[in-house]
Amino acid sequence: MLNFLVLFLPLVVFSYTKSDHYDGDKFFLPWGDNHKSIWSLMKWKLTGDKVPWPSHVPIKNYPLSPLAATETLKATWINHATFLLQFPGVTVLTDPVFSDRVSPVSFAGPKRVHGPGVSLESLPPIDVVIISHNHYDHLDLEALKLLDGRFHPLFLVPLGDEALLKKSGIQTVKALDWWEEVRVKDVRLIFAPAQHWSARKLWDKNKSLWGSYMLDSGARKVYFAGDTGHGPHFKDIKTRLGAPDLALLPIGAYKPRWFMKYYHMDPEEAVMAHLELGTQRSIAMHFGTFQLTDEGIDEPARDLKLALPKHNVPEQSFLILQPGESLSI
Ligand code: ZN
Ligand code: ZN
Repeated sequence: MLNFLVLFLPLVVFSYTKSDHYDGDKFFLPWGDNHKSIWSLMKWKLTGDKVPWPSHVPIKNYPLSPLAATETLKATWINHATFLLQFPGVTVLTDPVFSDRVSPVSFAGPKRVHGPGVSLESLPPIDVVIISHNHYDHLDLEALKLLDGRFHPLFLVPLGDEALLKKSGIQTVKALDWWEEVRVKDVRLIFAPAQHWSARKLWDKNKSLWGSYMLDSGARKVYFAGDTGHGPHFKDIKTRLGAPDLALLPIGAYKPRWFMKYYHMDPEEAVMAHLELGTQRSIAMHFGTFQLTDEGIDEPARDLKLALPKHNVPEQSFLILQPGESLSI
C-alpha cells in the first residue's frame, strides 16, 4: 500500500492501491459505514440538548519528572487525546493539541476550558509524534509546526495526511496504512484500525485514513485508540498484536447517541473495549477539554463510574487522570 503512485500532473496527486478499506478514491470501514447526512447534522444542531459547560475549569500543577531507572513506561495525560508516553530511550506524543480552539479558524469553534496539563514549552525532547486522524481536535497543525521546530521528531500519520504536514514545512513524515509499522530504537509503533472517519474541509471527507496505534517496547505495550466507535477492531487488534499493558481509551463526545454512536464510544462501550483488548489497565481520554457534543462536562466520568461495576472492572483498572497527572508502570 505504501508504494503509491505519484502522478506529476499540474498538482501532485497521491493514489494508493485499492484494499478492503480503500476504493481508489476514498477510505471506508470494511465492516460497514454508517455515515450521517448533512440533514442528520442539521437535525442534531436544531434539536440537540447541549448541557452548558463552564467556560474555565482550574487545573492543578503536577510536576513532570523524568522516567526513573526502575520504570518501563510513564503515561502523562496532557489534555483531550494528547498523552506524553515515556519509554526508556524513546518519548512519544499522541495527537498533540495545544491550541486554544479545535477549528479551521482561530476566532470560532470549540474552545478549551482548561490549559494543557503540560505546556508545550515544558515538554521533554520528543522522538515521535503519532497522529490518529485529521480532525481538528486531533491534528493541530500549529502545535505540530512548533514541535517540529523544537525537536524535529518523526511524525507518523495515516495515509493521505502526509501532504498536509509537508506543505507546512514538516519534513520527517511517514504515512502508514493499517497494520504497517515502524521501529524507533526498541519501540515498534504499529498503526491499526479504528471505527471513525476523516475530514478537514467540506470536500475532503474520507480522503485520508484514520486509526489507532499499538506501541510495543518489548517490556511494555501501550494501545492508543484514537477516536473511535465501538467496533469489531478491538478483538482483532488483541488477536493480531496481543493484549496491551495499558490502553488509552476515549470516553467523551458521545451524545446524542443516535448521531454519535457509530464514531464515538460512550463510557460503557469503552469498558467493553477495555475487556475486549484484554488490557491490564486503561486511562480515559477525549473528554473534559473541549465541548464537542451535547453531554455535560462531568457526564463521561460519572457514566464510567457507573459502567465499571456493571462489567466487574475495578475502578483502579480504568483510571481518570487529571490534566498533567502521570501513571508509571
Ligand atoms: Zn475525530
Ligand atoms: Zn475527536
